[in-house]
Amino acid sequence: MENYKSRIAHKIDVHTHLFADTDCMLHLMDTHGVEKSILLAMGMDNQEVMKYNESICFKHTRAHPDRLAVMVTFDLTTIDEPDYARKQREHLARSKEVGAVGIKVSKELGLVARERSGILIAPDDPRLDPVWDKASELGMPVLIHIGDPPAYWRPVDEYNPWRLLLEEIPAWVYYGRENFPSFEELMRRRNNVIRKHPNTTFIGAHLGSDAWDMEVAHVAANLDEFPNFFVDASAVVDEAGRHPEKTRELFVKCADRIMHGTDIIVMSALDKTSEVEQWTEEMGRYNSTIFRFYETEDEAIPPSEPRLRNWNIRGINLPDDILRKIYYENARRIIPGL
Ligand SMILES: [Zn+2]
Repeated sequence: MENYKSRIAHKIDVHTHLFADTDCMLHLMDTHGVEKSILLAMGMDNQEVMKYNESICFKHTRAHPDRLAVMVTFDLTTIDEPDYARKQREHLARSKEVGAVGIKVSKELGLVARERSGILIAPDDPRLDPVWDKASELGMPVLIHIGDPPAYWRPVDEYNPWRLLLEEIPAWVYYGRENFPSFEELMRRRNNVIRKHPNTTFIGAHLGSDAWDMEVAHVAANLDEFPNFFVDASAVVDEAGRHPEKTRELFVKCADRIMHGTDIIVMSALDKTSEVEQWTEEMGRYNSTIFRFYETEDEAIPPSEPRLRNWNIRGINLPDDILRKIYYENARRIIPGL
């Protein structure tokens, strides 16, 4: 299938990751009319990774301030220390001073990072309250990814839509794991945070984790309940495209609350021209799948990961005014530093 060319000129991609070169990222952005990409820092559970990744992100945003912006993260490994909150708040304030536009929270919170006693740190751990408050004080939105697709918690059988993927990567199967939070518990605890900090802006990554596995209905319910909650639509096209009617309804109803994002990642230096070309081609195909899904009624769009998804997706053909909000206007309004 030919790559689809979007009919809307201006776009912001609120969800990308960068560990290496920017050239391929900028080239990709140029090809697809993406004016600006937000680089999301990683490494909440590993101080070295965090430091390294944040320094790379800042280096590139400084070199291309008109094209790239950065959301920093904060550390979870020192949560037991008495001056934990003060240190994190200082880190955020310093980051804001040097140009960070927001804060990224990754799924390590809730699923991976543990306090010293060995217990997983819950999203609504009260030791994080001063951090959420600081975010609002600084006017920095928090792009928060809690949980994983609900399919990860289900048996890997013929009823599991993610069976092929989970068979390939068994480490992602949470079904049957002991002392592990359920998907519902994680969502409940994330919502506790959003409710408790009404002055902080939260942006739920991947449609707030709810779109995976036909659960789009919860997205609208959460957006209705919390005026300080928004979502990015990154990395959900294959799932959302399985239930296009529900997704379209959501995008029309909540057109002011959803932002375009891809979750593309440049993980390591792409040294050879062939590597850059291959990456750009793959990511070009991925972008094209997303735009075709939003902008057309095409019925047989191959999923972005055809190897692992044995279904086609169907386009939702959004009107141009809604596309402009989702691609561009919402991000400009909701993320002040952009
Ligand atoms: Zn991501």
